[in-house]
Amino acid sequence: MEKDNKDYIIPYKRYTEIRDADWQLILDLKIKELPVKISEILSVLGIKAYTYKENYRNLVHFELEDVMKSCDAFTLHLNGQYIIFYDESKLPERIRFTLAHELGHIILGSGFKQTQTGMLITTRNSEPSENDSPEETEANMFAARLLAPSCVLHELKLFTAEDIMKYCDITKTAANFRLKRLMLLETRNERFLRERGHGCYYISPLEQKVRQQFDEYINTVLKYRG
Ligand SMILES: [Zn+2]
Repeated sequence: MEKDNKDYIIPYKRYTEIRDADWQLILDLKIKELPVKISEILSVLGIKAYTYKENYRNLVHFELEDVMKSCDAFTLHLNGQYIIFYDESKLPERIRFTLAHELGHIILGSGFKQTQTGMLITTRNSEPSENDSPEETEANMFAARLLAPSCVLHELKLFTAEDIMKYCDITKTAANFRLKRLMLLETRNERFLRERGHGCYYISPLEQKVRQQFDEYINTVLKYRG
């Protein structure tokens, strides 16, 4: 395990599985520009997302009122289907991350717990923090890597939280979290270039393909940004 993965408390092997799951999804769904459109991704994957407001009565009926009050969103796994319910009163950029976080739980198959009434749901979803449980950390890692792929941030040199917020359409908290990770990668990249003659990006063929898929977008942004 490399030292700079330690802040996530996730074993290195699991970290690579999450990272690869993001790259694979980006490739499979042919995502090629920022901001990544999370609603479209859910729709393509056949995952329904509903607001708390439009399902308030049903959620109360199923005794999910407390979950609604304490979480930004949760996913219900029912009859083989995943249904996300989310708090529509939050900022749009926060909702985007929230939905990507829930997608992380679904794709990684982690964080589901049974309620007293026998419903299978994910229970906690708020912005990333250092004190999250492993399941929450994993879902946040997935969301961050989907909405803000590091190789694209690297190519566009988005090295401030403001730039990451603007290009990826995420909150400042999420952008700061991503920036911290990106800076570790950039330091490692420079060390790799010095010591090994190649950087730390694009070692995985999956990441190489993601870079190729974003090629036109990256070139266009670089050209017009000057
Ligand atoms: Zn969660």
